[in-house]
Amino acid sequence: MKFRKFGTAEWNVSALGFGCMRLPTTDGNAGSGNIDEPEAIRLIRHGIDAGINYVDTAYPYHAERSELVVGKALKDGYRQKAKLATKSPVWLINSKSSFDKYLNEQLQKLQTDQIDYYLFHALDKNRWKNTILRYDVLEKAEAAIRDGRIGAIGFSFHDGPETFIEIVDGYDRWSFCQIQYNYLDTENQAGTKGLQHAAQKGLAVSIMEPLLGGRLANPPKNVESLFAETGRGWTPAEWGLQWIWNQSESAVVLSGMGEMGQVEENIKAADRSGISLLSEADLQTIQTAKELYASKIPIPCTNCGYCLPCPNGVNVPRNFLLYNDAAIHEDPSTPRFIYRTYVAEKERADQCIACRECEPKCPQKIAIAEWLPKVHAVLGEGRPLP
Ligand code: SF4
Ligand code: SF4
Repeated sequence: MKFRKFGTAEWNVSALGFGCMRLPTTDGNAGSGNIDEPEAIRLIRHGIDAGINYVDTAYPYHAERSELVVGKALKDGYRQKAKLATKSPVWLINSKSSFDKYLNEQLQKLQTDQIDYYLFHALDKNRWKNTILRYDVLEKAEAAIRDGRIGAIGFSFHDGPETFIEIVDGYDRWSFCQIQYNYLDTENQAGTKGLQHAAQKGLAVSIMEPLLGGRLANPPKNVESLFAETGRGWTPAEWGLQWIWNQSESAVVLSGMGEMGQVEENIKAADRSGISLLSEADLQTIQTAKELYASKIPIPCTNCGYCLPCPNGVNVPRNFLLYNDAAIHEDPSTPRFIYRTYVAEKERADQCIACRECEPKCPQKIAIAEWLPKVHAVLGEGRPLP
C-alpha cells in the first residue's frame, strides 16, 4: 500500500480508502439494506489487512445498516488499525438538539467511543445556510470534539465550485472534506478549482466517485480501445484512479467495493500509484478520453450558470448535467438516484413553467424549456433514454 499526506494530520492515509455504500448484498440490489454481513466483514478486513487505514460510511447507506456492519467489521482489533469516518445526516437536522441525537446513535451503531472523522453529509448551498449555520451545528460539533466523541470535522459536498469555495472559506476549523472528483468532473461539483483551493487551505481532500459509480470502469467502446492501445496495461478503472492519485492535492481515494475481485484490483492499483506518475502522453490519453465522452453529450450545457436564477427555482445546469451523464454512459440509474435523492424538489426539471425567461441568457442557445420536460421524463419518471 502507498500512503499519502492527510492535510495537516500527523499520520499518513492509505492511497485507497474503503467506501461502505456498495457492500455485498444478499438480494443482489446495490445499496439495499440486506447486506451480506459475513462477506462484507471479510472484504473490509481483507482491505485493512492489505494496508487500507481509512473506512468511510454514512448514516443512510444501505438503508441505515452500513454503520452497523462497519461496527462489526471493526471489532477484533480492526478499529485500532483504521481511521473511521462517518457522516451527520444533515437533512434530518431540524433543531439544535438533532446533531447530538444522531451522533450518539451513530456511535452506538459503530460500537466506538469516537468517530475519527465526522462529516456533514452532502452539503450544498441550501443545507449550509439553512441547516448548518441556522442551527449553530458547528458549535455542537466543536463541543463533540472537546468531549471526545469526534476527532475532526469535515463535510462532503454536492453542488457547484462557487458554493464549495464559500463553504471552505466559511469556517476556519475544517480538517478535511470529501468531494466527487474524476476525470469527467473537473469543472463540475467542486471541480479541480475546488480541490486545489481546499488543499491549499490545508484541508485533506478525500475523493469519492473516482469512477462515477463504476461507469468509468465500463466506458464506451472507443474509450476502451483508446486505453488499450496505450500499452500501459491498465484497465479503464485504473486509468481513472491513477489520474486522481497523480494529483498531490488528493489525499485518499474512496472506492465503494462490493466484491473481493474489486478489492484486490484496487489494492494492486494503489500499490502502483504515486504523485506525478503520469507522463505527458498519459495525460493526453485522458484528455482524448474526455473528448470522446464529450462527443456523446446531447445538451451542450457548460454549467456557466448565466440562465440562473430561474424565477421558478429550477436549477437548470444541475438537471442538464445529470441528463448528460445518463446519456454519455447510456445508463440513467446513477443520475436518476442523484436526481431523486439530492436535487431538491423545487430545483427539479418538472418545476419549469416554460416561461422562457432564461433562454436569451444562454450563450449556448439551448432550448431550455424544451429540454427540461425530457430530462424529467428520464430522471424523474424513469422513462428510457430516447
Ligand atoms: S423556462 Fe423554465 S427554467 Fe427557464 S426561467 Fe422559465 S421556468 Fe425557469
Ligand atoms: S446558460 Fe445555458 S450553458 Fe449556461 S448553465 Fe444555463 S443552460 Fe447551461
